[in-house]
Amino acid sequence: MEEIVLSAISKGFTALGFSCHTPIETEDEWHMKKADFPYYLGELKRLKEVYRDRIELYTGLELDYLEDTNTLAGSEYIEQLDYTIASVHLMKHKKSGAYLSIDGPIEEFTSLLQDNFNGSMEHFAGHYFSLQERMISSHTFDILGHCDLIKKHNRDGRFFEPASPWYKKAWVSFLHRAAKHDVRIEVNTGGVARGATSEVYPSPEMIRMCTELSIPLMLNSDAHRSDHLDFSFSSTEDLLIQSGVRSLDILEHGFWTTVSIL
Ligand SMILES: [Zn+2]
Repeated sequence: MEEIVLSAISKGFTALGFSCHTPIETEDEWHMKKADFPYYLGELKRLKEVYRDRIELYTGLELDYLEDTNTLAGSEYIEQLDYTIASVHLMKHKKSGAYLSIDGPIEEFTSLLQDNFNGSMEHFAGHYFSLQERMISSHTFDILGHCDLIKKHNRDGRFFEPASPWYKKAWVSFLHRAAKHDVRIEVNTGGVARGATSEVYPSPEMIRMCTELSIPLMLNSDAHRSDHLDFSFSSTEDLLIQSGVRSLDILEHGFWTTVSIL
């Protein structure tokens, strides 16, 4: 964590947020272990103090929406956090009863596709966006994470055609719900940084609709490595401006504020 803070300072960041995957009941490889959470909080507290004159640090978590209970895993920690990201990564696999990820190993993605949706990408993606709508309707949080993550395994249109009317219908419905609930959506360069996607989350077409619906946006690298902290920020800012975005939300001095990017 300290290496990441030092990298941020050297890149000229004035603020940086950490948002590890929240601990959840069923421990796995990518969520923080419950036993590590006190260390995470303590180390961030220490780093805030050590680097207070050079950078603002924020303690966050990426919370996970769980469909069978309509809960946001990690909500119990909100009081101890400066901000939260809410994301849908998981779906309940009907056959095994286990939660499988849509963005993790391809086997988990295809098991969900075949076993839960009979191979129908239309139903799979439709369900994904409807879960985000349910999450928005039931929970409050600061940022909605990578809101078209369902495309992660779809490089080169392997599973579906993103221009399909059924796909657009699903995300348009989702964005209208997001606008109604005043949700802040993240523009996330992490998929590109890790070579999974050829474009940011959400797609340029979705970003254009966000501006039409006045949905507030923020820019996030979702970095897993210190050298990715500002990955593609300048070209993404160009894309945002071309897409009609005029401002981004930032967390500064402890408050969310909107700043012009023109
Ligand atoms: Zn995520």
